[in-house]
Amino acid sequence: MIYTNYKEIDGVGRIVISKDIRKYLNIMPGDVLKIEASNQCITIEKAENKCVFCNSDEKLKEFSNKYICQSCLDKLNN
Ligand SMILES: [Zn+2]
Repeated sequence: MIYTNYKEIDGVGRIVISKDIRKYLNIMPGDVLKIEASNQCITIEKAENKCVFCNSDEKLKEFSNKYICQSCLDKLNN
């Protein structure tokens, strides 16, 4: 499904992400969003913690702002 909204940016650079989009992507207050800009395009992506090796989001351990899952950690230790 694709949602398209046209939003006006306010004086300090804020936009509002509409309730339907927040609900669709399960974006909650306090969630972190990754914002990237290139050429004339801005992309906003829900930032989720994932293992740097296999992209798993289960049993993650953080090290130096990166995440590794227990399974990959076990493989590294062997
Ligand atoms: Zn992993």
